[in-house]
Amino acid sequence: MLFNEIAYGPIHSRRLGTSLGMELMPLEHKLCTFNCVYCECGWNTPVSHPKLPTRAEVKAALEEKLSTFHTASADRKNFQLSTLDVITFSGNGEPTLHPDFLGIIEDTCALRDQYCPKAKVSVLSNSTQLGRPDVVQALRLCDNRILKLDAATDEMMRRIDLPVNANLTVAQLIEWLKAFDGDFTLQTCFLRGEHAGKPIDNTTPEELEAWYQAVDTLHPKQIMIYVIDRKTPEENLSKISREEMESIAAPLRAKGYDVIISA
Ligand code: SF4
Repeated sequence: MLFNEIAYGPIHSRRLGTSLGMELMPLEHKLCTFNCVYCECGWNTPVSHPKLPTRAEVKAALEEKLSTFHTASADRKNFQLSTLDVITFSGNGEPTLHPDFLGIIEDTCALRDQYCPKAKVSVLSNSTQLGRPDVVQALRLCDNRILKLDAATDEMMRRIDLPVNANLTVAQLIEWLKAFDGDFTLQTCFLRGEHAGKPIDNTTPEELEAWYQAVDTLHPKQIMIYVIDRKTPEENLSKISREEMESIAAPLRAKGYDVIISA
């Protein structure tokens, strides 16, 4: 599933509410520093010169959408369009890969303030670009930073996320995530299955223990845990039950963490 517009929706997001989606990656194919076995956009497509929208194109597409909401809100003819909860950067890959990501977020916050001041600006990111100061600066401008950590052992993170940088470590991701002092949402997809002959399971006692420790190290203000919901590129995956997700969340909730389950 690919998004073929720079600004699309609004759509109802099971995790975010009424969301206007923003696409900073190519409209024709996925571009990501991960190649997650569960990615709803499918596998990465190697392309030598990926075509990204320019900062000006992103600003124009967003302004066109937001001015529509603004007008709808003013005349109350379209109440649904006038209630926008969030402007969300996610889509066909990793949005922070865009070289003008900081400028785009600055433009977005300014347009949001002008047209839809109640809407939040959210970014879903796989955390791999947090070593770049401009990306950290941009994410600090956002209302919600929703940052991925699918497993807390290198082996399981690499089996699930298939990072393009095969040397990426969980320790590095955790170190980068500390930049937000807990002011972010940690997101983790729980799943079981197999890929390339190797088992995948981030719900074993050992994996959960490592993940709980990572949570305690990072102390995120919110934790979103979710399950696979649509067709996945690796077909040999299974969905975790709601009951099991509740039991994964229970020890964290007992410690006072805000845990959201999408299952
Ligand atoms: S990080 Fe997101 S976009 Fe990238 S491969 Fe994983 S699920 Fe897909």
